[in-house]
Amino acid sequence: MKDQTILVTSGRNASEQFGAVNPPVVHASTILMPSTKELRDYDSMKYRYGRHGMPTQHALMDAMAELEGGYKAVLSPSGLAAVTTALQAFLNAGDHLLMVDTVYEPTRNFCDKHLARFGVETTYYDPLIGAGIAALIKPNTKVVFTESPGSRTFEIQDIPGISAAAKANNDITVMTDNTWGTPLYFKAFDKGVDISIHAATKYIVGHSDAMLGVITARESHWQRLLDCNRTIGMAVAPDDAYLGLRGFRTLSVRLRQHQETAMALCTWLNEQPEVSRILYPAWPQDPGYSLWKRDYLGATGLFGFVLKGGVTRQSDAFLDALEHFGMGFSWGGFESLMIPNSKVKRTATVWRPEGLSFRCHAGLEDASDLIADLDQAFEGFRGQME
Ligand SMILES: *Cc1c(COP(=O)(O)O)cnc(C)c1O
Repeated sequence: MKDQTILVTSGRNASEQFGAVNPPVVHASTILMPSTKELRDYDSMKYRYGRHGMPTQHALMDAMAELEGGYKAVLSPSGLAAVTTALQAFLNAGDHLLMVDTVYEPTRNFCDKHLARFGVETTYYDPLIGAGIAALIKPNTKVVFTESPGSRTFEIQDIPGISAAAKANNDITVMTDNTWGTPLYFKAFDKGVDISIHAATKYIVGHSDAMLGVITARESHWQRLLDCNRTIGMAVAPDDAYLGLRGFRTLSVRLRQHQETAMALCTWLNEQPEVSRILYPAWPQDPGYSLWKRDYLGATGLFGFVLKGGVTRQSDAFLDALEHFGMGFSWGGFESLMIPNSKVKRTATVWRPEGLSFRCHAGLEDASDLIADLDQAFEGFRGQME
């Protein structure tokens, strides 16, 4: 089946759901066992306790794994919980973790503040390192974590190159935070990844109304992931899984529109004399463009841009002037967003843009309304060049 058909059909089983098109929201904690036989076989029962998932959660796990080409998936109550669960599953005290320097900042906090307490050492590496990662691998390196493109600055990583180097002589688990690429546009398992993590809060839910994480594993890594997820007690409400599935069905059409609008905004921004640089892997002048073209099936609606160094007006006036771009964290919903990109934490590399930098999410509004809005807000900058 092609992806678009998987999006529509996967995780659905009309005969198990009273003929309804959508898997119903099944709330449960206790599951009654029909006889002592099932009670004894408890561990092998698909539905045995609410925490392990009911039909709603299983439908979403099955659909996500099928679309990305992984073996199976587990759910987490947030994207960050998916990241922390995956790391905990594959790291022990005394292990070494290689973490990309452009990682989502809460993931960095987890490494520095939490994993460190349990005796895991983290080394941050340059997102552009590629196969050069081999030089950083130590005998106790157990996980290489990637996130592409880089959080806020959009560097594309050579994930196949990193995976091949990590696996050349070592038993290293390669993870990726695939939130931007989604299971539709970046097929992590074909690229050498063992564990793919999604903040489903973003494009999977797609409507800015639920928190959700998904971790999908290769078969060789599945049992360890499942054991950890169960041991630490991760559980997701069926209502949130339902919202994830609801968004999943339209992922393809939404992403196509997000990408088209993002490209239209980048094209307009690039023509403004105040703009020095577009940060979007699908933009042909972007340094990551050729890797993106090689490894991705599409781009989504999140990108950045940098203004020229001489623009002195504070970004606050620009942001406050925007009407269609909300100021808020997260992204992947139907609405456009804009935030300043000024405070970006790096320890292994330097991020020093020439001027003010912003992160933009292109929503599903008409691109011409968004451009008109940008245009009137840019007026605030005009004449402010030194
Ligand atoms: C938002 C985000 C997360 C965290 O997801 P939450 O659901 O907000 O916890 C993790 N990684 C990336 C890349 C994100 O954008």
